[in-house]
Amino acid sequence: MHPTTELIHHPYQPPAGFAAPQIGVHKASTVIFANVAAMRNRDWQHKSGYTYGLHGTPTTFVLEERIATLEHAKHCVLAPSGLAAVALPSLALCGMGDEVLLPSNSYGPNTTLAQTDLARFGITHGFYDPMQPESLASAITPRTKLVWLEVPGSISMEFADLPALLAVCKAKGVLTAFDNTWGAGLAFNAFEVGAGLGADVVVQALTKFPSGGGDVLMGSVCTRRDDLHAQIKATHMHLGYGVGANDVEAVLRSLPSIALRYDAQDRAGRALAEWWAKRPEIAQVLHPALASGVGHAHWKALCGASNRAAGLFSVVFDARYGQAAVDAFCDALELFKLGYSWAGPMSLVVPYDMVALRAQSKAAWPANGVAAGCLVRFSMGLEAVEDLQTDLERGLEALRRAT
Ligand SMILES: *Cc1c(COP(=O)(O)O)cnc(C)c1O
Repeated sequence: MHPTTELIHHPYQPPAGFAAPQIGVHKASTVIFANVAAMRNRDWQHKSGYTYGLHGTPTTFVLEERIATLEHAKHCVLAPSGLAAVALPSLALCGMGDEVLLPSNSYGPNTTLAQTDLARFGITHGFYDPMQPESLASAITPRTKLVWLEVPGSISMEFADLPALLAVCKAKGVLTAFDNTWGAGLAFNAFEVGAGLGADVVVQALTKFPSGGGDVLMGSVCTRRDDLHAQIKATHMHLGYGVGANDVEAVLRSLPSIALRYDAQDRAGRALAEWWAKRPEIAQVLHPALASGVGHAHWKALCGASNRAAGLFSVVFDARYGQAAVDAFCDALELFKLGYSWAGPMSLVVPYDMVALRAQSKAAWPANGVAAGCLVRFSMGLEAVEDLQTDLERGLEALRRAT
């Protein structure tokens, strides 16, 4: 054979049985079959073998199993981003004439999906106030197929009574999908939030805690139900939702330290939230683990056993500080970077226009006892808390200068 052919069809096989803390990075579009019968009998559905890189490699199968364990689930599929994971249950489980319900404080892009593509497919949507379980009960119609749930609310951090909301859905016989990015599978078990109560489908942006690096986009869709998994897996295949092996490797590398990072960021978040609570510039600190947090009792009921909360909180500035001054505060920060996402090594800050954000779901702002004023959200990185506090003091000087 020519050397080029020999390089491509090289006969050497390394010895089997290599064992190391990390599994190998298996990269493939093409997967090779031993014979025609094996090729014809391919099974892309049950992880009994390999068909095509898009449908799984040893590397992706291992991450799926580990995320299923983290989420207390039976099945998991990986998606190329958290948003792709959020989109999957609605696309897989709903059809023309069905309706999805979203909390009025939903992760924004999930609402956008309902308002655009789902609407185009003849899937309608409605909103409910997650802090009022009766509001969910009265929003459910005979056409309601899927109810989306999330705690705490996106940006505004109010913590709903998740067991009460799930009980409403159970009584009405509708499917539930829960975005567990904040809890990450660590703060509570989303499949068992009370006796016989749990979400049917749980999604997570692995981009956040499971990655923890600020350098990977990935999501997961987990369930305990074989029938729902089969539907999700089919749509996952139809859409060609692949994930890259190097990204999977990065998440596998980070996963063993997820609880250490979660708890470190939680401690830092509570320390700074408590520091903010004493500052005269602030009308309100929105952190579910603080007694002043909206829905704190619901957080305590759900997460009291783990005593966990993500290192994520918002503050509402006193009404005497306008947007320009609050923007100057954000601009003056040096360690807190301006950027989206969270749970990475770097602390982040984002000023939000809550009135515009909630207008998307036709909800009023402020609501649920949150003070009026400019809102800023912080996510904790892994820097020393004292340095972050010094940074915030630097921002407050800029705030005062700009007022
Ligand atoms: C970040 C996030 C997502 C989306 O994740 P991406 O990987 O950025 O697409 C979904 N839901 C919640 C609650 C998130 O915080």
